[in-house]
Amino acid sequence: MMAETEIFDLIIVGAGPAGIATAVESKRVGIQKVLLIEKGPRHSYSIEKLYTPGKRVDKVYLGQDIECEGSVCIVDGTRETVLKTMDQFIEEYGLEIIANTEVDHIEQVANDLFVITDLEKRQWRTRTVVIAIGVYGRPNKPNYPLPSSLKQNIWFDLSQNIPARSRVLIVGGGNTALEYAQYLYSDHQVTLCYRGKEFTKANEVNKKIVSDLEKNRHIEILLESNVVNICDRQQHPRIEVTFQDETRRQFDDILYAIGGTTPESFLKKVGVTLEGKHPTTSHAYESGIPGLYLAGDLVSGGKGTIVKAFNTGKTVVWDGLCQGQLECRIPIPR
Ligand SMILES: Cc1cc2nc3c(=O)[nH]c(=O)nc-3n(C[C@H](O)[C@H](O)[C@H](O)COP(=O)(O)OP(=O)(O)OC[C@H]3O[C@@H](n4cnc5c(N)ncnc54)[C@H](O)[C@@H]3O)c2cc1C
Repeated sequence: MMAETEIFDLIIVGAGPAGIATAVESKRVGIQKVLLIEKGPRHSYSIEKLYTPGKRVDKVYLGQDIECEGSVCIVDGTRETVLKTMDQFIEEYGLEIIANTEVDHIEQVANDLFVITDLEKRQWRTRTVVIAIGVYGRPNKPNYPLPSSLKQNIWFDLSQNIPARSRVLIVGGGNTALEYAQYLYSDHQVTLCYRGKEFTKANEVNKKIVSDLEKNRHIEILLESNVVNICDRQQHPRIEVTFQDETRRQFDDILYAIGGTTPESFLKKVGVTLEGKHPTTSHAYESGIPGLYLAGDLVSGGKGTIVKAFNTGKTVVWDGLCQGQLECRIPIPR
């Protein structure tokens, strides 16, 4: 079923920072028919789902102090202020977003025509496409089996509330794991376990906060602790965790924060060439398929930030689409 008979100039898959910035820039240069398609119930769903409520959001992230090159930018704030800023961009530029729609496939059916299909087999036609789906699509899972009977006790993000007062084991040592600990400790009994000797992947602020929490006995930290197995005790607490040194501990819930996987299979299915895990693109982030671009974390070389995502959107429009496939009204500098 073709959901729309019209042909869009540009369809952007994913309404996170990169998708929104791409849409804003395309409006600025006068591209007419632009549509954002978003898998989540709202725009910026990775931020809404993966950032803990009230989380501090830094413009300079992972040590990368980068200036905004286009029309959208953020200042230091919180998860909530960043989401509000995104709301404002959407309203100000009148961006059209279809939510709750997961794109499953993109096919080039003619030189300047793509057909986009979602999981429910609805289709849209467009002259050009930008894929801005981020890298958090599939959270990494541990390499030991997870008993299906523990479905209600195993978590990969905080999009749902872990029951208050439960004993939670957080597995991971990056910023996400440390921020989960900071968020949960006030009404949960938190143990943070990481296989490394120290939290080398986390920033200094997060390291300091969890170290203070540990000193004040608000959380427990287990370093050089590698979980090798979990099993269902069929009684409370439900989970028995076995560590590599053969010690065993019991918890009500376990929360994994061990990264996410680049949606390689999605990109491969669409026909984007990958070098290792990274897609191959031109300087303007055009893939080997003319008219199909990538933006955001997908092209940020594993160190994505919000500002970087914004900037890729600007580059795609001004240096890519407007120089290649679409008619734009880019002001000529005097
Ligand atoms: C816990 C955490 C804390 C962070 N803190 C900071 C910080 O303080 N400062 C900072 O600059 N950066 C931070 N980052 C990084 C920042 O969030 C990312 O770099 C940024 O969100 C990347 O933007 P994006 O648009 O490329 O991808 P995303 O933000 O991941 O957006 C992708 C969008 O595409 C949608 N989507 C995915 N698949 C499909 C599909 N098949 N069909 C339709 N839609 C789809 C998703 O639902 C999502 O809305 C943090 C990241 C995490 C995980």
